[in-house]
Amino acid sequence: MPKLIKERVPTPERSPEERIKDFKEVNLGYTWELALKEAERCLQCPKNYAPCIKGCPVNIDIPGFIGALRKYRDDPDRAVREALKIIWACNSLPAITGRVCPQEEQCEGVCVVGKVGDAVNIGKLERFVADYAREHGIEENLLREQVGEIERNGKKVAVIGAGPAGLTCAAELAKMGYEVTIFEALHKPGGVLIYGIPEFRLPKEIVERELAKLKELGVKIETNVLVGKTITFEELREEFDAIFIGTGAGTPRIFPWPGVNLNGIYSANEFLTRVNLMKAYEFPEYDTPIKVGKKVAVIGGGNTAMDAARSALRLGAEVWILYRRTRKEMTAREEEIKHAEEEGVNFMFLVSPKRFIGDENGNLKAIELEKMKLGEPDESGRRRPIPTGETVTMEFDTAIIAIGQTPNKIFYQSVPGLKVDKWGRIIVDENLMTSIPGVFAGGDAIRGEATVILAMGDGRKAAKAIHEYLSSSS
Ligand SMILES: Cc1cc2nc3c(=O)[nH]c(=O)nc-3n(C[C@H](O)[C@H](O)[C@H](O)COP(=O)(O)OP(=O)(O)OC[C@H]3O[C@@H](n4cnc5c(N)ncnc54)[C@H](O)[C@@H]3O)c2cc1C
Ligand code: SF4
Repeated sequence: MPKLIKERVPTPERSPEERIKDFKEVNLGYTWELALKEAERCLQCPKNYAPCIKGCPVNIDIPGFIGALRKYRDDPDRAVREALKIIWACNSLPAITGRVCPQEEQCEGVCVVGKVGDAVNIGKLERFVADYAREHGIEENLLREQVGEIERNGKKVAVIGAGPAGLTCAAELAKMGYEVTIFEALHKPGGVLIYGIPEFRLPKEIVERELAKLKELGVKIETNVLVGKTITFEELREEFDAIFIGTGAGTPRIFPWPGVNLNGIYSANEFLTRVNLMKAYEFPEYDTPIKVGKKVAVIGGGNTAMDAARSALRLGAEVWILYRRTRKEMTAREEEIKHAEEEGVNFMFLVSPKRFIGDENGNLKAIELEKMKLGEPDESGRRRPIPTGETVTMEFDTAIIAIGQTPNKIFYQSVPGLKVDKWGRIIVDENLMTSIPGVFAGGDAIRGEATVILAMGDGRKAAKAIHEYLSSSS
């Protein structure tokens, strides 16, 4: 029987006192020695059984890559090279997924070691492999080998949106020999990875380096192109053999509370875009400003709410998360909630805004909150919040609304014949093809707000389906 080590090897982290003063990464990741020690904890379950593989939405051979680290323990470069090859077979952006995936609900949630102790730290091991490979030139070599093996087939595919779904679809198609062009509305590719998730969780340098790989594979990225306006969907249809839509779910959901238009109230999308994409925290060095008062309320309990709260904290505010259910129902990753707590974000549960109250100049000064209690579970499986009629008023000068995002209906209206459901999600078949033949879709555009790895899984699946579609139609 393999020896079971119950406690995971911790990853070094910056102290809360130090990290709240800047936007640099909180978790410092494993060193080779620590990674190897953690890799030793894996029981190397047989590949046809290993629950972690099934728990991973893109089915990475997890015992395989962990086993490679152990097998070549005396030669870290070789170990990492072999491990990266195994990861890349299923996941082209491991430095990103190793950082942002909710592993506790996926691979680590079903790891057998987790039944008696801490699950193997799969996410941090994946991150280690990707970071080490980049820092030691291993990634560059492997990529060059892959590029050398590509045989171009002369067919052209357009990808709309440069988020994880579009980027993955483009990478997979390029590897199969297609000429791929991504059209992206913003001035930088990356989608939520660039404008949503802050530097302290996912350094932008990491995203940019991962994106540089796409260019090596021959993918063209045209930024500042809003499909439906800058270029029409019909024009793309004429020029390309197939199209993938990965436009995400970037429209903020805003409830029409009285007073919601007062000064000082942001959607999380605007707040995070200013902070992350426009680097407003370095104003006036960067010319986008951000105004944050002394006391900030963040409405919501998901990843977006945590990111907004921790960003506001780093801009010097006292921050409160106001959530209508309890901690147990929060959808944010456990690690992010823990980090927010350590950093001094205040949490108030079972409250929901009733109205926003302004001063004579139209600036927010307080929020009237209704107290809630929990009822029966709703369709999400979480207990539904029910208003109690009791209210409390708290003073705030800034509020950030993070109650969800939906797909952009304006874009879909510019695509004749595209079927969407009542929530604005594109309807696709089992091959991710939409109601228009040759047009595929994936990621948040078909799921509503979901996760990076699910978007990537869709991108990969759609690339295979596009390949089959174009191979059979030629
Ligand atoms: C703040 C925040 C934090 C998150 N944290 C996590 C996390 O920790 N872990 C996790 O797994 N998930 C997290 N998520 C969810 C995750 O980011 C998304 O599920 C994922 O990014 C979806 O990928 P996508 O490619 O479908 O869409 P997106 O990332 O939204 O990318 C879509 C892209 O399409 C572009 N686009 C839209 N319309 C057009 C058009 N008409 N023409 C051209 N381009 C267009 C957009 O500009 C954007 O760049 C978070 C989301 C947010 C908002
Ligand atoms: S389930 Fe856990 S112990 Fe088994 S192979 Fe996967 S990571 Fe290793």
